Order: sequence, then C-alpha cells, then structure tokens
Amino acid sequence: MELMAYRCRTCGKLTHPKRLVCDVCGGRDWTPEPLAGEVTLLTYTRVHNLPEGIDKAYLDFGIVEFANGVRVTGQLGLKGEAHTGMKLRADVDVVRVVQGEEKVGFVFREL
Ligand SMILES: [Zn+2]
Repeated sequence: MELMAYRCRTCGKLTHPKRLVCDVCGGRDWTPEPLAGEVTLLTYTRVHNLPEGIDKAYLDFGIVEFANGVRVTGQLGLKGEAHTGMKLRADVDVVRVVQGEEKVGFVFREL
C-alpha cells in the first residue's frame, strides 16, 4: 500500500492530499509521486477521545515532514517515547474500520 503526493505540472509545487487547484499557480494538472520513506517528527499529541472505528483507549498522532518537504499527519506506532526531531519511517496501514470498511493512513514507526 502506498499513499501519494501530487506535483503540480505547471509550477512543481508538491502537495498532499491532492487539491483541485494549485494554491501557487492555479494549475489543475497533477502528477502523483509516492510518499514514503524517512520522515522527521515535527510535533505530536495524545488523543483520548477517539472517533468511531478505533478500538483503543488512546492514540498518539504526529505531524511529520518528508525529505521532499511535504508535511502530513498520521498515527504514531512507537515502542518508546516520542520526541520532536526524531527520524521515523512512514508506513501505510489500516488506521480505522468504519462500518466494516477499512480506512488506510500513515503510521509512523521507529526506523
Ligand atoms: Zn502550481
């Protein structure tokens, strides 16, 4: 499983998730690029009041930055403690099950 970033064919701006219109140049044509590999943890938080489809007492969420500059949110699946600036690996996994349908998203784990 893979999630994509989208590069504007006019100006080269890279974004995730996909937009209809580029916020830099107004372009509407995008080329998908795999969004994977090593990320840097920018910030994180623990959430105790979780939405439907997550059968856990709490989850840790982080905002990370890929080497290409794209920033995304996702779940943290760490064995140890999180700290800002740490290098993590971006995996794509099932993160919720809503009415029997599996939803995928990023899970960030130790390298
Ligand atoms: Zn553009």
